[in-house]
Amino acid sequence: MDSRLGGQAWLPDPDDFVRVSELVKIYGDTVAVKSVDLSVRRNELFAFLGSSGCGKSTLLRMLAGFEAPTSGRIYLDCEDITDIPPYRRPVNMMFQSYALFPHMTVQANVAFGLKQEGIAKNEIHERVFEALDLMQMASFSRRKPRQLSGGQQQRVALARSLIKRPKLLLLDEPMSALDKQIRQKTQIDLVKILEQVGVTCIIVTHDQEEAMTMATRLAVMTEGQIVQCGAPHDIYTFPNSRFVAGFIGSTNFFSGTITVDAPDHILIESAELMHPLYISHGIGEPLGMQVHVSIRPEQIRVLREQPVAQFNWEHGMVRHVAWLGSYALYQIRLDSGLVINASVPGMALAQADAPGIDEEVFVSWAENSATVLTT
Ligand code: ADP
Repeated sequence: MDSRLGGQAWLPDPDDFVRVSELVKIYGDTVAVKSVDLSVRRNELFAFLGSSGCGKSTLLRMLAGFEAPTSGRIYLDCEDITDIPPYRRPVNMMFQSYALFPHMTVQANVAFGLKQEGIAKNEIHERVFEALDLMQMASFSRRKPRQLSGGQQQRVALARSLIKRPKLLLLDEPMSALDKQIRQKTQIDLVKILEQVGVTCIIVTHDQEEAMTMATRLAVMTEGQIVQCGAPHDIYTFPNSRFVAGFIGSTNFFSGTITVDAPDHILIESAELMHPLYISHGIGEPLGMQVHVSIRPEQIRVLREQPVAQFNWEHGMVRHVAWLGSYALYQIRLDSGLVINASVPGMALAQADAPGIDEEVFVSWAENSATVLTT
């Protein structure tokens, strides 16, 4: 606990390599960051994920030291760095635009930070080529940035960021200057390089696929706050709110009322469903409580035959089928009028009897596939 948190002395935890405590940033009447608490572990690849204006860049700039917090503290490797100016922090930030010097060669761009520190020429040369080798860019050392592709410029910018061996690397929307086609490969390449270097890294992105591909853990942000923090798989499978369930991946929402809440199951009645929803665990909430239920499209089965079960199935009509290669997205209008999405493996759709547009179908889902959202 921080000394401002309940009056107890804050004891550094060696696992908290970066620790942010009650961080706030207010610009005039805009609260850009609202009391953020966060821990990032050593060598972790952590992402701040949120849509435009949620405060993620402001948080990153405070970690870099480019913005002073209105209140709160920032610790790096158990040291309070809140009042340390950016150039004295063992932190480096790679900007969205890469900010390479256009008139300098690749080699000079990468060497720049070391030259400013007055390091001996032969050591600079050795370290520059070590970094360029790691990025597979040594053969481009004499080129100017304009003679490089977007992906190559990114690797030069990364070499320049890493050469001073920062304790913390900050990447601001690292893929935004790249074409869509090469982004996914670049994301994986970048993760491999960062793992090889062994640096703690925080990425800011608005792209959930990018955050899910690259990060070991991520913080979902909205309106200046972290609303959920965890491993990508855990956030996808166990979203803690309707907002997170809708933001991370697509989902179907049903609203309803809890009618049974037993230790091993609950029943939810919904005006949007003909049959009650049965979920195979209790949630310990009052009967009659209004809740939302999220069921992912890949959890919904599309059937021709009517299920014999009492719960968790509906009747509907196929409204649209979108063929997306490895899977197809079915849009189905239920008898209540609600339209839901179901994703079906492409191989199943290729079968001759796969339901088509305007055909009657049944949908069903397993009793452990729905997530109840009480907020
Ligand atoms: P994001 O990076 O998630 O898009 P930002 O951190 O850039 O969001 O901005 C969060 C909020 O703070 C926004 O409402 C933005 O307009 C505001 N903001 C950011 N920087 C400034 C600034 N220098 N002066 C005033 N308001 C700012």
